[in-house]
Amino acid sequence: MTDTSSIPTLNYQTAQYMISAPTLAQCPPEIGAEVAFAGRSNAGKSSSINTLTNNSRLARTSKTPGRTQLINFFGLHNGTDQRLVDLPGYGFAKVPEKVKLEWQKHLSEYLLHRESLRGIVLVMDIRHPLTEFDQMMLQWADEVNKPVHILLTKADKMKRGAAKNELFRIRDTLKEWADLVSIQIFSSLKKDGVQELRQKLDMWMADPVDHEIEAVSSEESSEAISPEKPSEA
Ligand code: GDP
Repeated sequence: MTDTSSIPTLNYQTAQYMISAPTLAQCPPEIGAEVAFAGRSNAGKSSSINTLTNNSRLARTSKTPGRTQLINFFGLHNGTDQRLVDLPGYGFAKVPEKVKLEWQKHLSEYLLHRESLRGIVLVMDIRHPLTEFDQMMLQWADEVNKPVHILLTKADKMKRGAAKNELFRIRDTLKEWADLVSIQIFSSLKKDGVQELRQKLDMWMADPVDHEIEAVSSEESSEAISPEKPSEA
């Protein structure tokens, strides 16, 4: 396992809603550090934020009508400038092309240009991983060299062995991206994997630069990924 003993442990329970921004220009000042959660609609993104923060009211905030297409910011109230960011959910099948392009534009602007963004938690339903949306997020993250931590959530819907096999299969598919991408099994229902997620976020919030060192160390972890871009599926 990665040695996290010297990294401050953050209290994600202190997260509170700050603001919702339709575009990058309206996001709060780029002071401090933030970690963004992305995922296709219904992947389990809101539930994972609830589970991380132990606060079901936070994600409800993001699901408020009118806010679902916005970039929602939650500040940690621990005397620092640290934020969790809930990015717009994304359902390719349901939205008109024009709306889809508009979302893509705002999402890519945020991901490609937001200086205080330390890393992206990409939430995937373990039964439906690596969607078109997920591939797009990985491409953008790769473009700007930002680390991605994949949560294979709803793991409680599978037997443990099958979930592990899926983890290994996806890790292998993504091995070309091993220096930027890590992956773990998660379940909001069972609260499985919360500690591992917190440790990853603690590390990102504490250290903006040393992702490569972090990636190398995390190879020792049983849940960490190793390398290869997926074929363009
Ligand atoms: P979002 O659209 O990505 O924010 O997805 P939600 O967090 O709202 O979850 C979508 C649906 O999946 C809801 O019915 C949740 O209760 C369910 N769900 C989310 N996470 C889990 C999980 O870990 N296990 C199970 N069994 N269901 C989950």
